Amino acid sequence: MKDRVSIVSAGEIGVEAAVRQAVELAGGLPELITPRSKVLIKPNLCRPEPSGRGITTDCRVTEAVSRLVLELKPQSVIIGEGAGAGYDFSGSTSTEEAFRVSGTADVAARLGVELRNLNRDEWEEVSVKNPYIMDRVKIARTVLESDVTISIPVIKTHLRTLVTLSLKNTKGVLPGAEKRKTHALGLDKAIADLNSVAKPSYVVVDGLVGMQGLWTYPQDKVEPGLILAGREPYAVDTVGTYLMGFSPSQVMHLQYFAARQRQKADLEHIDVVGEPLEAHRQNFKSGWDVFRERYPGVHIIEGKSACSGCNGELMGALTAINSYGDSRALDGLTVILGNARRDEVPKTEKTVILGKCARYLARLGLFVKGCPPMYDDIIRAICRTAGADADTVIASLERERNRRWDETEHLLAR
Ligand code: SF4
Repeated sequence: MKDRVSIVSAGEIGVEAAVRQAVELAGGLPELITPRSKVLIKPNLCRPEPSGRGITTDCRVTEAVSRLVLELKPQSVIIGEGAGAGYDFSGSTSTEEAFRVSGTADVAARLGVELRNLNRDEWEEVSVKNPYIMDRVKIARTVLESDVTISIPVIKTHLRTLVTLSLKNTKGVLPGAEKRKTHALGLDKAIADLNSVAKPSYVVVDGLVGMQGLWTYPQDKVEPGLILAGREPYAVDTVGTYLMGFSPSQVMHLQYFAARQRQKADLEHIDVVGEPLEAHRQNFKSGWDVFRERYPGVHIIEGKSACSGCNGELMGALTAINSYGDSRALDGLTVILGNARRDEVPKTEKTVILGKCARYLARLGLFVKGCPPMYDDIIRAICRTAGADADTVIASLERERNRRWDETEHLLAR
């Protein structure tokens, strides 16, 4: 049987009715929640932002989901989140601030539901069976003790993973400094590993307002006005990705996770109910597209197979060179990703070819192996093409990584 995902427009019926209708169409909550259930509701509050800006979950969606859950009279209900990497250490902004600014704290007070900062929660280290990259991971104890976790992501692009929906939203269950580990190891594979031990039981996507590009300006806002729901995170994320105008095959963590679950992250295997999919498909600008606008001196050639793996590592490398090195190293640089055509590759000494997909082009430039390649290796290759000093960039990057680890380490020393 196909996994079902519902799409409901909130335009005429309002947010609460749209959430109810989406959940009803997708089935799930009454089957999942019993009077003995401990339920965790997990919005995306990656940083303190007001509802409606498309960066954090709209508190009206969190409220509607909480009300639905409370009507089923479970044993306990908690709204929990751990804001993004770097929050909740001394002197920084806290998840509590994100609860307050988003309006989620008011929702919790109104409904008598407990709020919990998962960055400051007790944690347990669990083993990941047959991991891609992360064999052990620390997870907030509240998540492990919950019978049902309802993920409420907001529909957005992401610089390193192309999109952020329910699978990426699971990162909030990692306590404090553990979040950095996923970036250091390789984000897409780490997200797939994490979800194999902390997969949400149900997903309601806040697709009212989302963000495209690098979420920098108000005009990056996109307003689909939709609510999506479903029991299988891979299926909901596949539909969400398609609605944003991307192909699910471009999202590596989605593909890795679906493969692990022996599922196929493509629309043929999903039963979409409610609003017609094509009528609501939009063209979100990827973080990558915007990034390229900001680095006009860099010429990127992407074959069809180029994915968030190579894209993400390259972005990290370019940002590092720009921040810690000589940004002139980027002028006139050509980078090849994915299975580009041979005749697209210019004959220039400043050509870097990335990853397994482009290996057959290796002789046409400086090749960096891997799938994806490590961004330290990409930094070295780019600097070499320009005769620039890569060691300084990498040493500065290492210092910055260590500084961040030191600042957040105490959160794990409990
Ligand atoms: S080499 Fe791997 S990471 Fe890079 S584009 Fe191909 S599949 Fe993606």
